[in-house]
Amino acid sequence: MVALILACRLPPADVAQPLDIVTWRALAEEAGDGPTTLQFIEVTAGPAPAVAAAPAGPFEMAEFVFGPTVATWPDGHTLVVDAMSDAKGTSEAMPWIDVPAEATARQDALLLSARRIVATHEHFDHVGGLFHSASFDGFADRLSLTAAQVANLPELRRSGLRDDQIASLRPLPLSSPAAIDGGVVLIPSPGHTPGHLWVYVRLADGRETLLVGDTCWQPGAIATGQGRPRALQWAMSEDGEAVRAQLASLRALQDSAPDLAIACAHDAVAMRALAP
Ligand SMILES: [Zn+2]
Ligand SMILES: [Zn+2]
Repeated sequence: MVALILACRLPPADVAQPLDIVTWRALAEEAGDGPTTLQFIEVTAGPAPAVAAAPAGPFEMAEFVFGPTVATWPDGHTLVVDAMSDAKGTSEAMPWIDVPAEATARQDALLLSARRIVATHEHFDHVGGLFHSASFDGFADRLSLTAAQVANLPELRRSGLRDDQIASLRPLPLSSPAAIDGGVVLIPSPGHTPGHLWVYVRLADGRETLLVGDTCWQPGAIATGQGRPRALQWAMSEDGEAVRAQLASLRALQDSAPDLAIACAHDAVAMRALAP
């Protein structure tokens, strides 16, 4: 299987499209003061074959982390990005990953107190915690899934969305980068899924972070321009061409903005290093 994955890996493509961070900065500033903290709240972590994420030896393992990221403003209001599925929702796809009930309870408390909740994309480890939550009705009015994410209803259902929850979804139109709060800009980035988005955050002190969700699982993918193996992309219905172009664009962006923290959603080092 590993040999097949390696054999099917696509060569890097020179397909970078310039990413307009100048516009993101302007949109973030126009929307008001940025948050003072951006913190990853780890629900769980576990090993995965590194080759599934970026070029690596066949027996190398990487640590994957899972959980929401929370931006907090000086007045105490918060924005939550993503919600890891509970143990039941995780057991089918990743039976080796333990999701403690106490951790999802902490995540529920964050969702209930958030002013706004967004998701990078439609997969269960990013939205499953919303749909499986017993508190769903308590935060559904502050949930802002985008129109593209809601349009991918089969994937949301696989992630745990129930029929009785569908009426609560009020799709947010997002066809170009748009601020969602002071200092925070959502950027459509379809590829890994049709409704995938990135979240640009400019903290009040000027530090910048780009949460790039599952466009990459490990930073090596950006450095080399090589993403997931083709067999895995096919299994996930990922638009591999789009993702390769995005990885090349992110690499160019990192070169032009070296202080920008670009964080792949499951990269333990980058996520744990977010500004506390
Ligand atoms: Zn994903
Ligand atoms: Zn993921």
